[in-house]
Amino acid sequence: MKKEYIIPIFIPHGGCKRQCVFCNEYAATGLKEFPERHKLEEEYNKYKQYFPEKNNIYIAFYGSTFTALKEKEMKYYLDWADEKIKKNEIKGIRFSTSPEEINYEKIKILNDYKISVIEIGVQSFFDDVLKHSNRSHNVKDIFNAIDILDKNNYSYGLHLMTGLPKSTFEKEIKSAEILSKTNAKFARIHPTVVLKGSILEEYEKNNKYNPESLEEAIKKTSKMTIKIEKENIKVIRLGLCLYGKEINNVYSGPYHKSFGDLVRTNINRYILTYLKDDLKIPKSMKSQFIGFKKRNKDLINENIFYDGICIKYKNKSISLADIYKIIDKKIED
Ligand code: SF4
Repeated sequence: MKKEYIIPIFIPHGGCKRQCVFCNEYAATGLKEFPERHKLEEEYNKYKQYFPEKNNIYIAFYGSTFTALKEKEMKYYLDWADEKIKKNEIKGIRFSTSPEEINYEKIKILNDYKISVIEIGVQSFFDDVLKHSNRSHNVKDIFNAIDILDKNNYSYGLHLMTGLPKSTFEKEIKSAEILSKTNAKFARIHPTVVLKGSILEEYEKNNKYNPESLEEAIKKTSKMTIKIEKENIKVIRLGLCLYGKEINNVYSGPYHKSFGDLVRTNINRYILTYLKDDLKIPKSMKSQFIGFKKRNKDLINENIFYDGICIKYKNKSISLADIYKIIDKKIED
């Protein structure tokens, strides 16, 4: 698949009706205001100059409930991006929003634009978790949004979180299983990190919330990723994405700048542990399997690497999704 280059434009808390307990977009992005035209252009040019190829660029509006912006504001941003599409500078538009803000009225507006992907903040498929996280939607809203997007042929990605108030490992695994049965194009999974200025920071200071440890978050997220990817839905991002000095806004919790590498290393550890006697891995994937800071070195036997191009299990080529199907069962046994 051709690499997609994303220009993220943050509209901090735009359209948000409440503050979700884990969120402080001002801290996460360092921005205080909605970006105006000159700022949009500045960000656009800043990102574009770094891209080695300029023919698969997308503008993505993040940090807000995009479809809950006032219609005039939403169209202001969409029209700006649309100008770039008309000039053939970008391929399409993406944005993130909350499920209850996907309805037929909003779809009617979106149909006038080239929307490539809509990212939906699901976070959990359990009402008690959503309620205690101060989300503005419930599980019914999620299924309603998915149904509308499916019926209108929109491509969408779904976000899940671990470690939210009232959540449990079982609920998180179940959420991953439910997501894996949707038509989502991709998923993102974020462990809950306590940001300064968030409601969770107060909860933690008052002993009402305990963040999960980094090791717990890696374990949960690994299993969720296996559940989702075995159904051929790619998990494109693991862990919170913070830029530059915004890392200083983390109060506590399982933040690690290489969280995704840690999870992928752990998944490969499961593969090496449970399947290694029947496995042949292409040499080109060796460093991936040895993993982050060589964490899996103790499980590596040089004989499992070979000169081919695909992973073999019991002497037959096998897809990663099929390996995950086997691993998923073994972990549960
Ligand atoms: S998580 Fe999304 S919906 Fe919740 S406050 Fe943050 S930007 Fe708004």
